Amino acid sequence: MKKLQVGILGATGTVGQRMIQLLAEHPWFEVAAVAASGSSAGKPYREAAHWLLDTPLPPLVAALEVQPCRPHLDCDFVLSSLPSDVAKVAEPEFAAAGFPVISNAGTHRMTTDVPLLIPEINGDHVAAIESQHARFGGKGFIVTNPNCSTIGLVIPLAALHESFGVEAVHVVTMQALSGAGYPGVASLDVIDNVIPIGLDEEHKMETEPLKILGRWDGAGFEPADIRVSAMTHRVHVRDGHLEACSVKLARAASAEEVTEAFATFTSKIDELELPTAPKPVIIVDDRIDRPQPRLDRDRSRGMAVVVGPVVPCPVLDYKFRLLSHNTIRGAAGAAVLNAELLYRKGLIR
Ligand code: NAP
Repeated sequence: MKKLQVGILGATGTVGQRMIQLLAEHPWFEVAAVAASGSSAGKPYREAAHWLLDTPLPPLVAALEVQPCRPHLDCDFVLSSLPSDVAKVAEPEFAAAGFPVISNAGTHRMTTDVPLLIPEINGDHVAAIESQHARFGGKGFIVTNPNCSTIGLVIPLAALHESFGVEAVHVVTMQALSGAGYPGVASLDVIDNVIPIGLDEEHKMETEPLKILGRWDGAGFEPADIRVSAMTHRVHVRDGHLEACSVKLARAASAEEVTEAFATFTSKIDELELPTAPKPVIIVDDRIDRPQPRLDRDRSRGMAVVVGPVVPCPVLDYKFRLLSHNTIRGAAGAAVLNAELLYRKGLIR
């Protein structure tokens, strides 16, 4: 089988590097083009990128010349890990030039006709792509994956929503440094410290789950009727976002039933055999001191969400902690999984 050729926008960054790592031995896709800012364009990738991962830079990618982010790349589709302001202009340009754009950036996530995809939960939202044809003309379109903290939260929420209905959520995050990109947060700001991240991150966590758990009605997304309150923090951890979550359920359930709903949650894409899909997508670890970022972020190659013990909450119904690898499950792995779903559905070829 001839592999599909992938272009990576923002290829030198934290998420771009993960994309290259995840595609190094991918059975369907291979990296054919890398693009970044004007300061990297024209250089071989090995010189432009400060490679931070603990696997070697694939030699074929190392030798590629970094290109500017303009829609002249020689590839079948693009994965984008551009900063939001750059994505705002560049991604529609690529879509209008006929490229499927599979994006990590926040810019287009809440746009009416753009799917905010987590294949295990709402793969049927790809139906919205049809509505983009009027905008972009040819075979180009944009799909997005959620914010890195939203992804970890919404996968367990989907299990609870399916079994009992979820009415309200309160979540407090402890987010890893790699979530801020490279070089990210200054070391003297974060050593011996915890930094509140701010309202924009909290707004994403409070709105994106409603679109993901909502319904595409042929013209727009009808959001799920759930109230979410989020408080977000940057902590001195390299990778892996830990979240402390309380939920109010629509239907009464015991703690054992809630745990069972997590443990037995079946992904809607299991039968598609997507190479990057974790099985199961939720791992329950009921040890009282788990999950922990350093010990649990790489479970199922960084693609599973690890949920700790479920205990009664005196304010809402139940509380639990969850962990997901922010640059894999929350970013690069999420985008690659979206590409695999689109490939299986014949939307990229
Ligand atoms: P990053 O490490 O700062 O990398 C940014 C990338 O964008 C670099 O390749 C950079 O190229 C490129 N770039 C910057 N300005 C550009 C311009 N004007 N034109 C073209 N390329 C430009 O950031 P990151 O953490 O990888 O994040 C990338 C995107 O993914 C952001 O939208 C972020 O919000 C989102 N995201 C990140 C995470 C995470 O865990 N890090 C998770 C989910 C989503 P140069 O090297 O040439 O500057």
